[in-house]
Amino acid sequence: MNNLELKNRDLDVLWHPCTQMKDHETLPLIPIKKAHGIYLEDFDGNKYIDAISSWWVNMFGHTNSYINEKIKEQLDTLEHVILAGFTHEQVVLLSERLVKLTPDGLDKCFYSDNGSSAVEVALKMSYHAHLNDGNGDKNIFVSLKNSYHGETIGALSVGDVELYKDTYKPLLLKTIQTPVPKDMSLEAAKEAACGFEELCKQRADEISAIILEPLVQGAGYMHMYHPHFLVLVREICSKYNVHLIADEVMVGFGRTGELFACSLAKITPDFIVLSKGLTGGYLPLSVVLTTNEIYAKFYCDYNEHKAFLHSHSYTGNALACAAANATLDIFENENIIEKNKELSKYMSEKLQKFKKLKNVESIRQTGMICVVELKGYKSEDRIGLKVYQYGLKNGVLLRPLGHIVYFMPPYIITKDEIDIMMDTAFKAIELL
Ligand SMILES: *Cc1c(COP(=O)(O)O)cnc(C)c1O
Repeated sequence: MNNLELKNRDLDVLWHPCTQMKDHETLPLIPIKKAHGIYLEDFDGNKYIDAISSWWVNMFGHTNSYINEKIKEQLDTLEHVILAGFTHEQVVLLSERLVKLTPDGLDKCFYSDNGSSAVEVALKMSYHAHLNDGNGDKNIFVSLKNSYHGETIGALSVGDVELYKDTYKPLLLKTIQTPVPKDMSLEAAKEAACGFEELCKQRADEISAIILEPLVQGAGYMHMYHPHFLVLVREICSKYNVHLIADEVMVGFGRTGELFACSLAKITPDFIVLSKGLTGGYLPLSVVLTTNEIYAKFYCDYNEHKAFLHSHSYTGNALACAAANATLDIFENENIIEKNKELSKYMSEKLQKFKKLKNVESIRQTGMICVVELKGYKSEDRIGLKVYQYGLKNGVLLRPLGHIVYFMPPYIITKDEIDIMMDTAFKAIELL
């Protein structure tokens, strides 16, 4: 099989995610034959640095020998079992570890199999917890302007990125968007928190929860804000009996510099939602952790209205849990969070030089996420696409969000590879 043959056969039978398929008349698909470490390799032997961790999921490289070994062991023991009425070793181990690693007070784990469905779980649990308390009027969700929480109907309803949402507006739940801090300053954090408090003053009786992406709004053009915003929102939520749902699907597992962004801000949300990095980028798995207090609201003699009767067929899949346990082993055994500090410092130094390009508006960084924001283009210029194409020609997979070029590599990247990744982006931007 070669690149060309696979491309043609693909387009006969596949419909790709987040893609105008007609683009593929001119923009070639890239068939990947194999991958190792931070490199993807196509059927013609071309290699690409995976600078976006394959849509933000990969942590320790592709075909990581340790994770491979652990999944293979699990494969010969137990691949999957129903999680209603049954349990297994990997899911228990993983839950114990997550309870220990996430902020204090998050004590119960509920599994599903992707970020969006976990967001749905958190929304339903929040509403249902209030309902079990006799507060059924609390049935509206608040989210931040410019937020992204996934693309199923409920998750899309709490999102605010027009590109994904507008078309489906008539189908969506009614939600309220409150301002996100406009930049990374402390003042902006305070100002946005005031906006949220104002909303709570007027409508807390109707509000079930606020859902937010702590510190970095991923698909919302990598917008970043100050950790103090989380502290203030936590206080307001407690004051007005509104749940705080921290969607750490993207920022979790070290992207912001700490294992979890909420730990960096030293807050405990009522729900934390985890997925992407959870299995090291290997298998679909997601989890919602919540407090014993919320859990207790559902715990009673059998009553079909009080129990949380939500389920997914692959809840707590054993292979995915084994991959997640292996991923956590690597975090622990290799002191990754400490090592990342060195890498993020190095990226920070390299990022500075982008400022001198005349089409660069600004740069920003939170931990292992670096952003170069471009200026002077219209959306029909599709400059992101040009950077993407230049990157591919030069062996780097960059996938800008519009005019936002960002770097979010697997944590095993070396300084030399950071040089290649960032120098390639620099040239791409210079040549625009
Ligand atoms: C990717 C993402 C989701 C959705 O996860 P999927 O697995 O793609 O459904 C939800 N929230 C955030 C913050 C994300 O980045």
